Amino acid sequence: MLAGSRFEAVERAPMKSLHVAIVGAGPAGSSAATFLAQQGARVTLLERGRFPRDKICGDGCTPRTLWMMERLGLGTLPSTEAAPVDAIYAISPGGVVLDMAIPTRLFGGKACVIPRQVLDERLVQRAVQSGAELREGVRVEGLEREANGIVLRCRDGEDLRADIVLGCDGSPSVVRRALGAPDFPDHEGAFAVRAYYENVRLTRPRSMAFYWEKDLLPAYGWIFPLPDGRANVGLGLRADQLAASGVKLPELMERFCASPHVAAELAGARRVGKVKGHHLPFGSFARHTHFDRALLLGDAAGFVNPLTGEGIEFALESGAFAAEAVAEAVAAGDLSERGLGGYARRWQTRFRTAFQLNRRLMFAFERPRLLDRTFRAAIRNEHVRDELADVISGEASRISWRFLAGVALGR
Ligand SMILES: Cc1cc2nc3c(=O)[nH]c(=O)nc-3n(C[C@H](O)[C@H](O)[C@H](O)COP(=O)(O)OP(=O)(O)OC[C@H]3O[C@@H](n4cnc5c(N)ncnc54)[C@H](O)[C@@H]3O)c2cc1C
Repeated sequence: MLAGSRFEAVERAPMKSLHVAIVGAGPAGSSAATFLAQQGARVTLLERGRFPRDKICGDGCTPRTLWMMERLGLGTLPSTEAAPVDAIYAISPGGVVLDMAIPTRLFGGKACVIPRQVLDERLVQRAVQSGAELREGVRVEGLEREANGIVLRCRDGEDLRADIVLGCDGSPSVVRRALGAPDFPDHEGAFAVRAYYENVRLTRPRSMAFYWEKDLLPAYGWIFPLPDGRANVGLGLRADQLAASGVKLPELMERFCASPHVAAELAGARRVGKVKGHHLPFGSFARHTHFDRALLLGDAAGFVNPLTGEGIEFALESGAFAAEAVAEAVAAGDLSERGLGGYARRWQTRFRTAFQLNRRLMFAFERPRLLDRTFRAAIRNEHVRDELADVISGEASRISWRFLAGVALGR
């Protein structure tokens, strides 16, 4: 049971007669499965892949992601699986270098980098331990409504009937499309690529490093440390800007890796495997998330920070919100869109302002001079530095006048 959550108010008995089908066993699906199974619901988790399976990602786990892992009962993973991080290193287009600790007020100031092949397997194991049934190698192709339930059409397994369906199948989402929610327009999404490197000797092995290279703007890139001298290196760009540029992301990635700061960090390192890319839907476009007997979570809902591209924490937290809202709807005996409305209320209260602010900041971060100025102010002014750390860690939901004044005055 989640300490201090609204679960206490909900009776257990009706949850036991509820069958929830969850499509996709990424962070969103495994989180929802864990919380719902702990509440006594019958949970079937359908996953097209087989664990351990890879997921294209930067692998960066924010302090809030670690907090959610604690809530899920996962605790801290060993240093052979997770590289601990407690600082942010960032370089502006004009070469201003910012080296700052993650403030301890952000869930203790601890972050880490975990390959998704490891993280997602640990998360799904937790769901299974909690009582969820995992069916691997099952691809959901669509859904049909019945009088008292939903039937999922599966390509590589039997069709499945459930009382409620949670679409946790990432982006693009089959469940989202089947429920009639619109696709993300190009200006409300990004594409990002990443590659793994080995034999890396980073100058700051406990920092997540971000690079805004002048020649590559508005794209930005990262180098995140991994255990055993490996690193996750990647780059992302808004989808409409990518289309307008006519450049391919792998090409931009080559240029990123050849840029002086990045090349220096990767000297002597070797790339392992291919450069792989994937779509990221922005939280600023998230609005169609609850339907009769169905919810959308994580990337399927569009819960990604438009500025940083982080989505794991939102996927995990949306799992908790979905479990609470389902329990509430079951207790009220109302599984309609209206009965499940508590889900939208919860995520909007927690995520919406942050998504909107970060979308606005995305435009500010495309301006080289403004970024240089902000970084310079952050070096001199502790308040600006702290607030910038909040922004880069994905924790800011507002920008204070003190921050704006600090940047404007350069101190
Ligand atoms: C290059 C890149 C870098 C990123 N870096 C970071 C980062 O550093 N930190 C961060 O927090 N976020 C990052 N993100 C975002 C993050 O990867 C996502 O927000 C996160 O994975 C969302 O979790 P999810 O569970 O909603 O979806 P997913 O992780 O996409 O999981 C969806 C699951 O559904 C399964 N599935 C899909 N379709 C079907 C189907 N039809 N039937 C059955 N199963 C299906 C998939 O196999 C998968 O297991 C990055 C994304 C990209 C592309």
